[in-house]
Amino acid sequence: MFFMEKQQFKAESQRLLDLMINSIYTHREIFLREIISNASDAIDKLAYTALTDDKVGISRDQFAITITRDPENRTLTVSDNGIGMSKEELEENLGTIAKSGSLSFKQAMEKDEDVDIIGQFGVGFYSAFMVASSITVISKKYGEDTAWKWVSDGADGYTIEETEKDAPGTDIIMTLKADTEDEKYSEFLEEYELRSLVRKYSDYIRYPIRMEVTKSRPVEEPEAEAGEGGESGEESAEYKAPKYESYTEMETLNSMVPIWQRAKKDVSDEEYETFYRDKFFDYNKPLRIIHSSAEGSVSFKALLYIPGKAPYDFYTKDFKRGLQLYSSGVMIMENCEDLLPEHFRFVRGVVDSQDLSLNISREMLQHNRQLTIIARNIEKKIKSELKSMLDNDRENYEKFYAAFGRQLKYGAVSDYGAHKDSCQDLLLFYSHKQGKLISLKEYVEAMAEGQEKIYFAPGENKDRLAKLPQVETLSKKGYDVLLFTEDVDEFVPQTLMTYMEKSFCNVSSEDLGLKTEEEKKEAEEKAEQMKGLLTFVKESLGDQVKEVKLSDDLGSHPVCMTPDAGMSFEMEKYMKRVNPEFAYPVGRILELNPDHEAVKTLERTMTEDPVKAKDYAQLLCYQAQLMAELPLEDPFAYTELVCKLMR
Ligand code: ADP
Repeated sequence: MFFMEKQQFKAESQRLLDLMINSIYTHREIFLREIISNASDAIDKLAYTALTDDKVGISRDQFAITITRDPENRTLTVSDNGIGMSKEELEENLGTIAKSGSLSFKQAMEKDEDVDIIGQFGVGFYSAFMVASSITVISKKYGEDTAWKWVSDGADGYTIEETEKDAPGTDIIMTLKADTEDEKYSEFLEEYELRSLVRKYSDYIRYPIRMEVTKSRPVEEPEAEAGEGGESGEESAEYKAPKYESYTEMETLNSMVPIWQRAKKDVSDEEYETFYRDKFFDYNKPLRIIHSSAEGSVSFKALLYIPGKAPYDFYTKDFKRGLQLYSSGVMIMENCEDLLPEHFRFVRGVVDSQDLSLNISREMLQHNRQLTIIARNIEKKIKSELKSMLDNDRENYEKFYAAFGRQLKYGAVSDYGAHKDSCQDLLLFYSHKQGKLISLKEYVEAMAEGQEKIYFAPGENKDRLAKLPQVETLSKKGYDVLLFTEDVDEFVPQTLMTYMEKSFCNVSSEDLGLKTEEEKKEAEEKAEQMKGLLTFVKESLGDQVKEVKLSDDLGSHPVCMTPDAGMSFEMEKYMKRVNPEFAYPVGRILELNPDHEAVKTLERTMTEDPVKAKDYAQLLCYQAQLMAELPLEDPFAYTELVCKLMR
């Protein structure tokens, strides 16, 4: 034996390596994906060489990656019969950490980003040090005679020496760290664990990933020699437990062809559904399956699902949106957020693009141009699929909408309406006239002659909204009113402003716009005439209301409480719930119906008995609040007042 001097890792590599090894890390298991992916690349290179060099002498179906477990020695070995590495390459590739895949990690560290980033980008070979206390690489480069053995325990650099190896290729031998209370590294020596890791991360690697697995089979017992006649009948009646023996067999762990790479016509509905269930753990049937393939400046395949039910945490911060991203069959990201806009966050699925493969681990994904193109394309696909469902498969669309409609509304109003083009055509609201959910387009197309606006009434409950005097008035004219019962609904007209060139009108706070010029003038004159009454009521009520005015939109109702322009009582309540600190009361405007008997009585009483008239004004104010679903600040005062007037 001769003394070998240890080579030091380059300085910055050392720092990075320490950071990586010691960082609290939840994705340790991805080391296997990294090592397998390197093996697959190495085979790709030799397979490519074989195209033009017939001395390679290995046919395509002989290429394989082999996993060997050795629990006794605590080693896990991943071998490939790929291109191999020369001495220089071993030093260059494995002795410098701050290169290639590791670079993205380094940049992320420098920017102080979440360390979790390792799980997304992969850091290549060095990730193996997260589970191994020492790594031996035995490699023989194709076309060379000498094989090399590279050994490192991560911390102090590495040694390199000549060794023996028959065929070209590489063995990565990892001696796993000792188990601690929190970390059971030995699980990476278990057959079951390794098999599931390969299925999870590397299922679609195009070369077989093989491992010796233990199986069992029934032992065929030699037939008991039964004499003729005799007691054999009795014996055979006795139950004999079948005996099993275990044996080992090489098994290919990965399926090699991903479902999204297959032609649509070759995949059955059941296969699509099984894949969805296994991959995304959703036992409800998906409502739509989008399997698409794009060629062009960027080619990719996508398999997307529109779920039938919202996961329990869908409307919380815990829900993670994103698609699984593959590059050439290797999963590189479990939840790629950049592929899916927030408003379509309910979609699940996978995207695979070869065009990402060369760069993906070498640069930050966010700035990847190809990714942006894919994301845009996917957004369009989802929108058109939902639109076609809305038009042609209403029943399922309504199921979808019940689960995710709120998300689409959020999408339409978020970022000051930046995504309205993707969302507005997909929204449904409850139509008072038709008694069902309709789209805005359907509303506009069904508008009565002479109707100029899209009317909506915000409130908590459809039945009550239907009884609003304004809704009654509009209904009489044959105009439809959309009943908005969800918090976010009211923000939709505020954000969209118009739809198909029609403006929106909040029936409970805005002028319905039904009056002719002549009628308007008439109303003004009437208000002038009744000015005394309006002033009296305002003075009686003091700060309880901001203004008192007449309205002839009230149908059979005497009074109505409406919010000050641009606001609504629903918003006031909403703000009180979600952000009480910033909530402020919306101005109340009391509208009186001059033709109603109660109002006429009030006017008469005003001159006859002003004290009583003041009580009447207060009573009407209470009524208006109750009809507007506003809580009474002092219900006792209300009851007392009613009793007083009854005496
Ligand atoms: P990356 O794969 O992102 O380049 P790695 O740290 O995983 O980064 O690997 C560095 C380099 O080492 C690879 O680019 C490759 O050239 C070489 N390499 C790693 N594993 C193998 C292997 N099994 N066979 C041949 N070369 C390998």
